[in-house]
Amino acid sequence: MKTSSFAVITQPCIGVKDGACVQVCPMDCIYEGDDQFFVHPDECIICGMCITVCPTNAIFGDQEVPAEWDSFIAKAQNHFGM
Ligand code: SF4
Ligand code: SF4
Repeated sequence: MKTSSFAVITQPCIGVKDGACVQVCPMDCIYEGDDQFFVHPDECIICGMCITVCPTNAIFGDQEVPAEWDSFIAKAQNHFGM
């Protein structure tokens, strides 16, 4: 399903959603969902800017997502109909 690496927003974003990541993304590829923000898997260039600024450390490269939050990879893909 996944064709390239992307940043994955996980559990700690839920309930926070401050949008700090959106402000710094050079690709404008972070979109607001009902309970969290989502990075578009095909648009992200994995520059790391959002990972640096997230106050809750919710964002990981898809190869580094903690096991307990692994489902957020598919959740992001599903959000965009992938
Ligand atoms: S890694 Fe870079 S391109 Fe990808 S969502 Fe974060 S800020 Fe945007
Ligand atoms: S910066 Fe982190 S907590 Fe804030 S909206 Fe983005 S992912 Fe969620």
